[in-house]
Amino acid sequence: MSDVYLKPSRGKSIRNRHPWIYSGAIQHIDDSPETGDVVNVHAADGELLAQGYLNRRSQIAVRLLSWDAQPITPDFWRKRLQAAISRRATLAKDPETDAYRLIFAESDGLPGLIVDRYGDWLVLQALTAGIDRRKTMLAEKLAELLTPRGILERSDVDVRSHEGLEPVSGTLWGDPPPETVTIRENGHRFRVDLHRGHKTGFYLDQRDNRAALARYCATRSLLNVFCYTGGFSVYAAAAGASRITNLDASRPALELAEANMALNDLPEPESWQGDAFQVLRDLVRRGMQYDVVLLDPPKFAHSRGQLQRATRGYKDINMLGMRLTRPGGLLATFSCSGHMGADLFQKVLFGAALDVGRPARIIERYSQGPDHPVLLSFPEGYYLKGLLLRIE
Ligand code: SAH
Repeated sequence: MSDVYLKPSRGKSIRNRHPWIYSGAIQHIDDSPETGDVVNVHAADGELLAQGYLNRRSQIAVRLLSWDAQPITPDFWRKRLQAAISRRATLAKDPETDAYRLIFAESDGLPGLIVDRYGDWLVLQALTAGIDRRKTMLAEKLAELLTPRGILERSDVDVRSHEGLEPVSGTLWGDPPPETVTIRENGHRFRVDLHRGHKTGFYLDQRDNRAALARYCATRSLLNVFCYTGGFSVYAAAAGASRITNLDASRPALELAEANMALNDLPEPESWQGDAFQVLRDLVRRGMQYDVVLLDPPKFAHSRGQLQRATRGYKDINMLGMRLTRPGGLLATFSCSGHMGADLFQKVLFGAALDVGRPARIIERYSQGPDHPVLLSFPEGYYLKGLLLRIE
């Protein structure tokens, strides 16, 4: 096995169990390991600190797998998969829900690997070269552990370019899933397009937040901005919302959102297709107001460098959302940009409330669901935050 030696005084984060080694921290590498090979990581004085897989093309040159000398065999990977699956035992027993994240990469000790369950199907994302190389073996182990009907790969994500990888998708194991599969979430049914849907098909991270917001929606009107396939709308309508308005830029998403309302025997929603910034401005101009406004935009900050621009975007959309909330009504607002911390997000909302002259109070705080845990030694895993505000 090859050995990686760190520069003097660069071992602290590793001792603190952070799973990334940046290329700039490396002094030299013995032998010439291939992309994805497991390497021993040593402090400058030679002490063995950890093992991980290497990709010299990536700024994150090593992703750590273990902090001891245990051999990284197929059995090591099987045990890691099993441990992640066991952490979801409570969800697996829930008869009302059959779609959730099984493996959340670094947070589950499996850097670069995402696996989501959708009923009888698994969807796998290989985000790094180290995982890409092992994906067939990992799919076989997952099949042994979970006996799904099929495992679909959806590695069609931009982050792979940082690893020198092309986007790929296709069946990894077993049967290919049909055009859409129907899943259950807290007793509600959703049609999900595993082949073309966002992420691995559905925003599983919002499951608990959908249930939480629905409790406020009985007899109320809801404007669901960035609704995608209508997750929040189905919950709200089932809880007795008086009227649902869905807004998204994507026509197929809005159509699936309508189909999902029908699938749950709920009334047809109002659907607006367009750019949310423009449509909301129009609605403000027309003096429209709603009891509950929900903003769940896509990630505005993909890097630290984009944070300033993203902050302006969040402020703008939230000012519009506040103006569209009737006095005493509720604004549920989210940011899934990991680079925007919860404190900064709250400050942005403070600025927005000040500028529109609408005092606001935090009623609830939201986060990613328990199947997307945050490892304390890897705070980067925390990305989804939301606030429920009462807007005066
Ligand atoms: N709340 C959803 C997830 C939202 S994902 C759920 O619970 O499933 C973000 C959505 O924003 C996507 O559906 C995307 O099509 C849409 N979107 C992205 N940019 C947009 C824009 N400028 N205007 C309107 N919708 C946009």
